[in-house]
Amino acid sequence: MKILVAVKRVVDYNVKVHVKADGSGVETANVRMSMNPFDEIAVEEAVRLKEKNIATEIVVVSLGPAQAQETIRTAMAIGADRGILVQTDAALESLAVGKLLAKIAAEEQPQLIILGKQAIDDDANQTGQMLAALLGWPQGTFASKLEIADGKAQVTREVDGGLATVSLTLPAVVTTDLRLNEPRYATLPNIMKARAKPLATKTPADYGVDASPRLKTLKVAAPAKRQGGKKVGSVAELVEKLKTEAKVL
Ligand code: AMP
Repeated sequence: MKILVAVKRVVDYNVKVHVKADGSGVETANVRMSMNPFDEIAVEEAVRLKEKNIATEIVVVSLGPAQAQETIRTAMAIGADRGILVQTDAALESLAVGKLLAKIAAEEQPQLIILGKQAIDDDANQTGQMLAALLGWPQGTFASKLEIADGKAQVTREVDGGLATVSLTLPAVVTTDLRLNEPRYATLPNIMKARAKPLATKTPADYGVDASPRLKTLKVAAPAKRQGGKKVGSVAELVEKLKTEAKVL
């Protein structure tokens, strides 16, 4: 079984993001970038399926600037076999990513596509769903457990107030939630080995996909600054302030 995994290069989750002075987006120049954390979980899950001899090949895809090669190499150091970079400096919306992944899926014919549930930069949480719709494949989103047997994927999903388990006929699309697994660290020998693994570079035009944006960002603003706290002398004073100042009682 071949697995396709989508990995996005995003601002590292430890970085405190700053909104650009002109309000057009967040600062990405000279900012540490890394693989979207949910995508690391996706790669780890694919590697575990290969270690269990369920998967035979893991192909990792990233869409973005030339530097997204590093993200692909990281996935290869974790255990992916080869990579495809769809190179573009344009900001890609989820629909364009979904269309490009659908074209790659048509070429590669994977039995399973694993994506993160959301990219932590745009928080769109829609690429996996759009891809499943474009392909006409079943989807299991927010997976916290994945089991493959007899041509089916059993996906346990984290939903409000509990867990839902769905059975999908392969080929299928799965998106990862935080508790699916804990990704391993890439070891130095594996980082070295990853350099020799095959990486194909393409462009959106190679797939005949018009990746131009359909949405216009009007404004990006930082959250309002937190007001300083106040110490109160007694419970009575606290209740009074909650009534008269905070007006929450
Ligand atoms: P989103 O719908 O943008 O929150 O992203 C959900 C998932 O889609 C991510 O976790 C990735 O697995 C995948 N994805 C989104 N954008 C890209 C991209 N530019 N390159 C590769 N994968 C992507």
